[in-house]
Amino acid sequence: MPEYDISEIERLIDGKLPWARVQEIMKEAKDADRFDKWVQILQTRQSWDDRILLPLSPSLFIVQKKNKERVVKCACGQEFGDYRVNWKLSANIFVRDSDEALREVYRGSEQPDAAWTQVREYSCPGCGAMLEVEAVPRGTPPDFEILPDLDTFYREWLGRPLEDEQEFTDKTLETVGGWS
Ligand SMILES: [Zn+2]
Repeated sequence: MPEYDISEIERLIDGKLPWARVQEIMKEAKDADRFDKWVQILQTRQSWDDRILLPLSPSLFIVQKKNKERVVKCACGQEFGDYRVNWKLSANIFVRDSDEALREVYRGSEQPDAAWTQVREYSCPGCGAMLEVEAVPRGTPPDFEILPDLDTFYREWLGRPLEDEQEFTDKTLETVGGWS
């Protein structure tokens, strides 16, 4: 099983590795420690030191805080709460739901009917980074793109269970219910 130098993995994730080398890596058997090296690289790039459990996007991470809480956190340090609650509930949301607003991002006949479709832009309240965009029918709840089973992943796939295993469940509706 191949093992790559961490600097090579870093160039790979930054898109700086020559395509010929990327192809070689793609054809090889998978390196067993890729996840750890990937997380290690991302961890060194953050200004905070909460442990990254799983990267969700270039800007968002599920981290374990010192008090063992698992939250979604932006690269800027802004936190979005329990990872089992859709982080979009804690983001700034800009909704394009008029023909005029949709015209700013679509051209001509590509533009959906504003009577049916909304484009929602989610950004970070801390740094303003655009975190996600979704085009959905009106009335659709925010799409919860990934709710990873972290404990199973660490226990069964990585072979090292996380401390303080937590119930694997979507807590989004519970949170919304608390608003009323
Ligand atoms: Zn941010």
